[in-house]
Amino acid sequence: MTPERGGFAGLDACVHCGFCLQACPTFLATGDEADSPRGRIELMRALERGELAATDAALAFHLGRCLGCRACEPVCPSGVRYGLGLEAARERLTETRGVPWLARAALWALTTPGVSGAVYAAARLLRATGLPRWLAGWGRIRFAMGMLAATRPTRNAEGGTRNVPKAASSTFRVPTSALLFRGCVMQGLFPHVHDATIRTLAVNGYEVREVTGQVCCGALHAHAGLADEARALARINVTAFGDGDEPIVANSAGCGALLKEYGHLIDGGVMFATRVRDVTELLAANGGPVAGAPLDLHVAYDPPCHLLHAQCVADPPERLFAAIPLLRLLTVPGAADCCGSAGLFTLLEPEMSRAVLDPKLERLRAAAPQVIATGNPGCVMQLGAGLAARGIRAPVRHPVELLDASYRAAGWYE
Ligand code: SF4
Ligand code: SF4
Repeated sequence: MTPERGGFAGLDACVHCGFCLQACPTFLATGDEADSPRGRIELMRALERGELAATDAALAFHLGRCLGCRACEPVCPSGVRYGLGLEAARERLTETRGVPWLARAALWALTTPGVSGAVYAAARLLRATGLPRWLAGWGRIRFAMGMLAATRPTRNAEGGTRNVPKAASSTFRVPTSALLFRGCVMQGLFPHVHDATIRTLAVNGYEVREVTGQVCCGALHAHAGLADEARALARINVTAFGDGDEPIVANSAGCGALLKEYGHLIDGGVMFATRVRDVTELLAANGGPVAGAPLDLHVAYDPPCHLLHAQCVADPPERLFAAIPLLRLLTVPGAADCCGSAGLFTLLEPEMSRAVLDPKLERLRAAAPQVIATGNPGCVMQLGAGLAARGIRAPVRHPVELLDASYRAAGWYE
């Protein structure tokens, strides 16, 4: 990318062929060219050239309705880097128009050190009452309740990292170190997934080490056009994780996608970015993961956009499921389509978000899985809330939670 043009240069390769249109969930929802990748690329090019002002209402409307799911990237024969272009355009819009108060409030509550801890503690208390599960439904508040209810751990997952594997060191004589990226939403509402990550990686020969001083990855800020704030967070993380060569493991697809793009975001971010791995990538390395005990389950895997499209990680999650005997993966049409979560999108654009979610819920109802698996906190919450609103009882779990349950049943843990 040329520094003066930033991510806009990633759009130069577009030749208007339109191959991306049918991959775009917002174009499929509205049929409007301006809600398609090709249409938005033209809007972004016009913004960069100054032919459209950042104050243009239609420009902000159509770019605001983009999920940032990047389903348009892998299908593009020209290699357009849509995500980089979108972040550059959103940065330009945010400089002129500011950030919606709702986005600002959400970022403050969810990612500010010293504030977010209290917010997540209150959310966990509310979750423990069982009220969110009972109130889940459609409408902004009830959908938010459903999202919170979806973060609840299964009972047998609670045990913390004290349940360390008892035989890992005899299987892998030289454990490999990995550094855990904890993030903000994952740490606040999904600490049980971190515990499952540590345990399952330990079974597979990794000694997971904690890193102090790490902060939010900045993905929510970058998607909101607050690139300077994302860069400031990235610099703190690069310093915190240091210059070593241990892999940095992320279990949130959204965090992992941005961590892998620190090389574009900040000077000095390239080495950090090359160390980042999704948890399924580490588990699947060296012929892994180790097989667990059978789980007699029908599972629908819903690959997160930021894992499949942004990180191009497709095979490792399948390898994880294959390590669980008896588990059957159901083929659900459109599983790779976006669920409509997309960071703060579900909060800021609820109508479009639900329009994108709706066909997925219908297909899940038809497939009738016992469990839905997905590796991103926003997707867990969005799918969980939608399923609850539809009265579909299947829980949504992170893939490592299933592997963890399989290892527990196999007697790996003390
Ligand atoms: S983004 Fe790629 S697939 Fe879409 S119109 Fe441009 S060149 Fe074609
Ligand atoms: S990022 Fe997703 S919603 Fe946005 S243009 Fe690409 S496919 Fe469509």
